[in-house]
Amino acid sequence: MEYVTQLLAGGNLASDGVYTKRCVELLESRFHIAKVLLTPSCTAALEMAAILCDLQPGDEVIMPSYTFVSTANAVMLRGAKPVFVDIRPDTLNLDESRIEEKISSRTKAIFVVHYAGVACEMDPILDIARRHNLRVIEDAAQALHSYYRGRPLGTLGDIGAYSFHYTKNFICGEGGAICINLPEFADRAEIIREKGTNRRQFLLGNVDKYTWVDVGSSQVGSEVSSALLCGQLEMLDEIHARRAAAYERYQQLLQPLELSGFFDLPRVPAHCQGNYHIMYLMLRSGDHRDRLLAHLRDQGISAVIHYVPLHGSAMGTQLGYSPGDFPVTERAGACLLRLPLFADITADQQERVVNQVARFFEQVV
Ligand SMILES: *Cc1c(COP(=O)(O)O)cnc(C)c1O
Repeated sequence: MEYVTQLLAGGNLASDGVYTKRCVELLESRFHIAKVLLTPSCTAALEMAAILCDLQPGDEVIMPSYTFVSTANAVMLRGAKPVFVDIRPDTLNLDESRIEEKISSRTKAIFVVHYAGVACEMDPILDIARRHNLRVIEDAAQALHSYYRGRPLGTLGDIGAYSFHYTKNFICGEGGAICINLPEFADRAEIIREKGTNRRQFLLGNVDKYTWVDVGSSQVGSEVSSALLCGQLEMLDEIHARRAAAYERYQQLLQPLELSGFFDLPRVPAHCQGNYHIMYLMLRSGDHRDRLLAHLRDQGISAVIHYVPLHGSAMGTQLGYSPGDFPVTERAGACLLRLPLFADITADQQERVVNQVARFFEQVV
């Protein structure tokens, strides 16, 4: 609030101002990112990535069906086609063992999604990409401050995309960032972000006027959002520690119910460090999930489901997919329930949530 007030009092709302620069510096230095540009959303960053990959009509892009629509839309907007692959049952991330069977002569890229802030199996995925000459884009919307074998997510592919949407860990309402990990993309990324002009070179004094040089859009975020984000990034460790404590408390409180066989709790592989983005229960059936959801809602607890698999949606059907194509994805779509998790949640609130989950299962069995 202090930063936003300072910004407004200063009266200059020009974008890419001091707060944006501070956010960029914080992100680049903390996560060893070659180049960061702030964007109005992760969706915008993914759309920029699709342009940078030079996707053309008829091209194919491999991705999970268990993701948010933005991953697929970024590809569709270039006239390219999402080619879905099922997910792993443990992390609910792209099943790397099923990627190669989907690669064709038209495949141009793999868009990975790090679900719940837990890494995809990046070493095998990067190896597949290298062998088939494919770009790798990380939809790291949920994965800021998560790691794969010690390396920050968002920095492992050619491009990474983060979200600062109000539902994520570090937020500014609506916001995002693109990580340009491949140096040859750096100049073009700035042009695309500035509506296809070389305005950035003009501001740096390298050219005496700026003009239209490429395709592009308005992918520059508001300085007001950057002021909010700056405060969040400066508190990154504190926010992270609070989420970690809340997540661990849920794990402890829920373990007896898991041992009774009512559901599975999320597990993070030993070589991955997560950011405690989501606490979910994987229930035994869609019926249990729907009834538990209704029960918690009745108690005023804001439990929520997550992705409706893209391949079973209206658009997915148009792309030629049918229900039954991806069983692990469909199980997650039907059986997964997210519990409320936020930095300020109290131990009492968490106990109330878990008590209500327990009460539900007392009635079910
Ligand atoms: C939240 C999310 C997005 C969209 O982020 P916005 O900043 O709202 O555009 C994209 N992909 C995934 C996996 C997400 O979780």
